[in-house]
Amino acid sequence: MSTQKKNLAIICQNRKLPFVFDEAQAMGVEITFFYNENEPPPPVLPAVVRSIALPLFDDEEEAINKVMLANREHPIDGVLTLFEPALDFAAKIAHQLGLPFLPEYVVEQCRNKNMTRRVLHDNGLNTPSYIELKEGEYPNVEQIKFPLVVKPTNGFSSQGVTRANNHDELKSAIDKVWEINNTQLKNFIYDKGGVLLESFIDGPEFAIETFSHCGEVTVLSIGDKGNSKGPYFEEGVYIAPANIDEKLRDEIADEVRRALKALGISEGPAHVELRIDHKQKPFVIEVAPRVGGSGISHYIVKASTDINFLQLVICQAFGMEIPIKLELMAKSIFTAGNYIIPVQGSGIFIEIDGLANLREKPEVQYVFEFMDAGHKVLPYPHFSGYPGFILTRHTDHAACEAFYYDLQKSLKIKYL
Ligand code: ADP
Ligand code: CA
Repeated sequence: MSTQKKNLAIICQNRKLPFVFDEAQAMGVEITFFYNENEPPPPVLPAVVRSIALPLFDDEEEAINKVMLANREHPIDGVLTLFEPALDFAAKIAHQLGLPFLPEYVVEQCRNKNMTRRVLHDNGLNTPSYIELKEGEYPNVEQIKFPLVVKPTNGFSSQGVTRANNHDELKSAIDKVWEINNTQLKNFIYDKGGVLLESFIDGPEFAIETFSHCGEVTVLSIGDKGNSKGPYFEEGVYIAPANIDEKLRDEIADEVRRALKALGISEGPAHVELRIDHKQKPFVIEVAPRVGGSGISHYIVKASTDINFLQLVICQAFGMEIPIKLELMAKSIFTAGNYIIPVQGSGIFIEIDGLANLREKPEVQYVFEFMDAGHKVLPYPHFSGYPGFILTRHTDHAACEAFYYDLQKSLKIKYL
């Protein structure tokens, strides 16, 4: 069976991250791009044959009607999203159209961090102590062991995620997360806002990319994500494969497989975040049933292992056979990384200084700039977007680290 001229519905996508469009084009796929109507219409993009605005987060019923109408005009063969808040909608329309997608309850279990915790705990996975609060509620102070992490139940991009070391910090973090739930996150979470407290897992963090098929999980990559101590958790560098021994790698892979099984991710991609505590015990922090980072996870996998992650995902979205035979664990050939340029403060963004000539360096595969001059950047734990990503490829981990050390010194954000 061929993917030529098959029609893939993509729900929301950061237009500056080209991977999903480029890979679809390479497969001869035609994309119907459903974008949030609060955003401007997209420019011409590879493989996109029509773009349709949807009131995705304002009027779900109307959004579904528009997709059904689009399907009557030009039938849709598969549904895909790389955007966390659009997962539930994508699941809904895929089912209405009779197309492959994870069940809605599986998506919900991943989107809602309180449910994720409960499912993982009930299935015997390592779980930090956790408790969910309703608005106006504060925890019983006697029960608490610090440090804690306070976060929105249905958040994304680390918005609001805050470490608290004592009762004063805890109270102000809880108030802050409610404020973020009721403002920045409001449009994306319908009325599913809550606040979750978890014990802080103190140790290095890893990002794991997986692909499941018929219940078999292939671990495509395990990468280093630093060891942030907070109080806020702005995303930093991502380097794969991680610089760890085989034993730890296998333990992480096992824990991830068990987590995906518990959550019901028997098909498709997942992006997992996990920390190792001081006893070397792996704790899953978050599981997203999608290709991570709006396509960055595809880059990391492809550049480090040569496996075309999005090609697998797109074939699966069409219900087609997976084109290659996958092992339980993919082999890395190169080191690939994403240097996320930190916001370095807050203010009115002007530009990123130090980017000139970077594109010419052989290690640098892509440079993405996401902010326009005049953009207002709020301090963390507010999320105002990423200034930019630098995607690189190296012969080994040490070379990548050295390269990022230099980037950290040379790249500066200019604020008004
Ligand atoms: P989001 O969905 O907004 O990304 P996460 O739950 O993934 O929220 O939290 C963002 C980051 O905060 C994580 O990548 C991790 O670095 C840190 N973090 C979250 N929960 C914990 C925890 N229990 N212990 C240690 N760090 C945590
Ligand atoms: Ca996360």
